[in-house]
Amino acid sequence: MSTGPGPAEQTATRTTAPGGPEAIPSDSVREEYENLVDLVRKYRFAYYQEDTPLVSDAEFDQLFRRLEEIEALHPELVSNDSPTQEVGGEASAAFAAVEHLQRMYSLEDVFSLEELEAWLTKASAGIAKLGDGSHQPAWLTELKIDGLAVNLLYRDGKLVRAATRGDGTTGEDITHNVLTIREIPQELSGEGFPAEVEIRGEVFIPSKAFAEFNEALIEAGKAPLANPRNAAAGSLRQKDPAETAKRPLKMFVHGIGAREGLQARSQSETYDLLKDWGLPVSPYSEVLGSLEEVLDFIKRYGDQRHKLLHEIDGIVVKVDDFAIQRALGYTTRVPRWAVAYKYPPEEVHTKLLDILVNVGRTGRVTPFGMMEPVKVAGSTVEMATLHNQDVVKAKGVKIGDIVVLRKAGDVIPEIVGPVLALRDQQDPPVRDFEMPTACPSCGTPLAPAKEGDVDIRCPNARSCPSQLRERVFHLAGRGAFDIEALGWEAAIALTQPTEPEVPPLTTEAALFDLTPELLAEVRIRREKRSKGVATGEFELVPYFYSKGTAKAPSKPTATTEKLFRELEKAKTQPLWRVLVALSIRHVGPRASRALATAFGTMDAIRKASEDELAHVDGVGPTIAAALKEWFAEDWHVEIVDRWAAAGVRMEDERDESMPRTLEGLTVVVTGSLPNFSRDEAKEAILLRGGKAAGSVSKNTSYVVAGENAGTKLDKAEQLGVPVLDEDGFRQLLAEGPAAPAEAAP
Ligand code: NAD
Repeated sequence: MSTGPGPAEQTATRTTAPGGPEAIPSDSVREEYENLVDLVRKYRFAYYQEDTPLVSDAEFDQLFRRLEEIEALHPELVSNDSPTQEVGGEASAAFAAVEHLQRMYSLEDVFSLEELEAWLTKASAGIAKLGDGSHQPAWLTELKIDGLAVNLLYRDGKLVRAATRGDGTTGEDITHNVLTIREIPQELSGEGFPAEVEIRGEVFIPSKAFAEFNEALIEAGKAPLANPRNAAAGSLRQKDPAETAKRPLKMFVHGIGAREGLQARSQSETYDLLKDWGLPVSPYSEVLGSLEEVLDFIKRYGDQRHKLLHEIDGIVVKVDDFAIQRALGYTTRVPRWAVAYKYPPEEVHTKLLDILVNVGRTGRVTPFGMMEPVKVAGSTVEMATLHNQDVVKAKGVKIGDIVVLRKAGDVIPEIVGPVLALRDQQDPPVRDFEMPTACPSCGTPLAPAKEGDVDIRCPNARSCPSQLRERVFHLAGRGAFDIEALGWEAAIALTQPTEPEVPPLTTEAALFDLTPELLAEVRIRREKRSKGVATGEFELVPYFYSKGTAKAPSKPTATTEKLFRELEKAKTQPLWRVLVALSIRHVGPRASRALATAFGTMDAIRKASEDELAHVDGVGPTIAAALKEWFAEDWHVEIVDRWAAAGVRMEDERDESMPRTLEGLTVVVTGSLPNFSRDEAKEAILLRGGKAAGSVSKNTSYVVAGENAGTKLDKAEQLGVPVLDEDGFRQLLAEGPAAPAEAAP
């Protein structure tokens, strides 16, 4: 990355083992230190004054840590204006400067649970030494709101001023903008508030409102805001309060500054008072007595981090008791009675190397970003989907940009947007992405499936190698034929024209006609490795056969032998799995099971009318239409026919000893029966030659109604379809239509 030294480069410039004593700073340490100070200043300026961070918070935190490390080893380097001695940010000249009555502080950060434990243990020991030694620590534990610190000044209960934190001493006057936030009272309610009181808190944009706000921006063709913190900061620092009023801002208060005559002995008591005065207090804080409880709090909120009202970047633990807070005091930058635990970063910066497109199973062409690999939320990421060309445009990203990459927990990584301030510095210069007009896999001109669609597709479904590769990979999946030896690389080797030029499969119809001999010459392109490390050079290597030497001739690998065993086994899979393997639109395992249960054979499904298909429980009109459309294509039917000819079982086994008492009858089961599950009841119908339908029509022969049967029972009564209870159903199964008596109404 060209954003100045990243964490890796920082480590490289390290001149001593961390923690080792360093009596006199060498020139290189001095130089590293000065460079770091400059960088931290530059990044702080961009972050606080311009609301446009140049590096991710994680990267910034690492630089700051390194600065602290060097200063710990060389205290003589520390000057009064070192960034470690200052609260970040200074008041911008664009706003009137205001002096806070009492200084505002930052927080000491810890980045691991071990560090937090060490902090709490040390603080507890310090507390135990205070006064008569009877103090017990009580930890007010709360969420670290990812927003902007604001100081509210109330005189005689009236809001007279609101300011940003600035450098902690001087902030920016943003009173007019704060007045637009509805839930901040312009007058305090209740009683007992001091004549003059400073109340501190965090202004933020709630996560849901942020998502909606961004959607609206995208719809209006504007670039979305990068993250709620910078969005909140940018919103509050608008020149025009009318503009601020449009932003969905909220505030939670979490501290108090000048507090002459305040009747409270602890932080938690203060929160109760603040609530009484009508101020918004976070619902998420708890007073905890032990490290275990604090760790549990961290885990609990870490797990539900994205379900909360607002974004958080950590947890703040504060000594609750004011007397202890006073005794512990402050450094020049932070209180000694509080600490912030930061969760692992979910947002990082990396370089967008290229935007490529992938052609999916249904021909949909999807752009995706290739990035410099980067660690985020616990995993290394180098690719992220960009969905379609409109999304690329809306996000405003160009190839070569430094981008913000976000991966929230288990969620798929997302490219949020470019770091615009760095765009001009990129070498080679950034360039626009252009959606290809022809399929990168087969050269067929791309087009939307229907007019007005955002997605474009490759219409060459039959022989586009990319689409075929995706279908082959899909048919081998666990929910289809379950062929473990046919993974992603094997799907590529079977379908992509690398070497030989015509790959073994140009249609999946030929899957079961594969022979080991057909695979002997197949080669794939693979990166060369030297002592396990990738070299960046590629070569063609045999995929299904061993390399072969003069002594040991090339032969099928163990995986290839397994592939052929699994192909044999696949021929005996139940019908629903064969249906899934066909890649029919909308036909997944659930619909396939329903179809297999209702019709029993591929032939019956193929011949069924759209109406008959649609009436199957779990199928419906969309899937029915997709099935009819699919079977109307000759090359699709050829797949089924060739698989069948190769021995794939196209019907579920029937128990031939079972009397076919329900031949020609259509039965609907509704409600719950005491001794049959819904699937067992349907199975029983099918085994006796009947059809199990999902909805009642005039063609329904019987409705079997259990408990809580709803509208289907009403419909049966309307249409005069005979209704059976479980006994009647058993009789019907055993003896056929002549037997059952209708259930009593
Ligand atoms: P901080 O964000 O680590 O913590 C201090 C702030 O937390 C307080 O001022 C307060 O406003 C806020 N806070 C939120 N919830 C709180 C609660 N419940 N109780 C008390 N305070 C609460 O420190 P900082 O000095 O504001 O900012 C430093 C951080 O900002 C860095 O750790 C970094 O992540 C980020 N930063 C990033 C860049 C960048 O370029 N990306 C530059 C500068 C700073």
